[in-house]
Amino acid sequence: MTSPAQSSSGAGTGNPTVIALLSGGLDSSIVVKLMLDQGLGVLALNFVSPFCTCSPKKDGGCRMAARVAQSMGVELRVMNKGLDYLRIVERPRFGYGRGLNPCIDCRIYILRKAALVMRETGAVCVVTGEVLGQRPMSQHRQALDIIERESGLTGRLLRPLSAHLLPPTIPEKEGLIHRDRMLNLNGRTRSPQLAIAKERGVEIFGCPSGGCLLTDPAIARRLKDVFDHCPGWDERDARLTTMGRHFRLHPRLKIILGHDATENARLEQMAGPLPVIAFTKEPGPTAVLRGPYDENDLATVGRLMRRFSPKATAENIEIRLRCDGRETTWTAQSSATADEIKSWTI
Ligand code: SF4
Repeated sequence: MTSPAQSSSGAGTGNPTVIALLSGGLDSSIVVKLMLDQGLGVLALNFVSPFCTCSPKKDGGCRMAARVAQSMGVELRVMNKGLDYLRIVERPRFGYGRGLNPCIDCRIYILRKAALVMRETGAVCVVTGEVLGQRPMSQHRQALDIIERESGLTGRLLRPLSAHLLPPTIPEKEGLIHRDRMLNLNGRTRSPQLAIAKERGVEIFGCPSGGCLLTDPAIARRLKDVFDHCPGWDERDARLTTMGRHFRLHPRLKIILGHDATENARLEQMAGPLPVIAFTKEPGPTAVLRGPYDENDLATVGRLMRRFSPKATAENIEIRLRCDGRETTWTAQSSATADEIKSWTI
């Protein structure tokens, strides 16, 4: 996916161009400014996945990256972390953080893609907003070295915020990028970056995020369940982990219930070919089924839906399943018990 191209600052001037990873946060925004202030051309890349923390209501992630890029007049390419990324999340080489976040493998994945763009465009290096010692899993010195080596960017991965604490890169040695105009930041504090942003006139940037949704224990549990129990899982399964209530009725069948009318509509839209169940008249959650089911399962799903429908008061609630253009209806008379809910919750 590519945003409407704008001309990269510095491009066409004969000055070298760098590829910048731009999340839209403070660190990466400053890095873009540092490069522009050296007269370099910048092509920014922003990577999105089902686990980004931006949403239509929140001004984070790709939205903020677009605002930063526009404010600085640089071209931004938005790149999707697709099924190939999810396969890495399932089996990372370098392990997980506190959730199902494979931060080192994730950085390697992103930087390999960035390296391809660097080679395609003739850019001289890839620059990132990484700061030595800022994040425990992926920004200690050994992790930075592994990421540089495994991404195929040895000598061409520049971390301008900590440049003075790291070996010079090839474009620095060649005099294309000035080392003395970069920084020596180290550790978790953000105050130096805020001061630099003020000094350099960087006014648009997002709040620091605590990582993507893979660090969230609930999302991590659901995604692990997908990897373990949903044969042939795909991007849709990954996206569905970020919404609704999730229940596993038995090893082969998972149910997702919407929390409210808005989420019901989103679930229905995202379900694609998956069976969708809703009450025919009463208000209540929409349910999406993932896995094979029989009549007993449908009766159980009806009881589960009733449990989360305080406004559905009829003695017999009619329920309708839609799948492959066919419809089936039945009624639910009772609700699932608290113990059942507990035992099914993922
Ligand atoms: S927090 Fe998420 S997006 Fe950030 S490096 Fe880790 S896995 Fe990748």
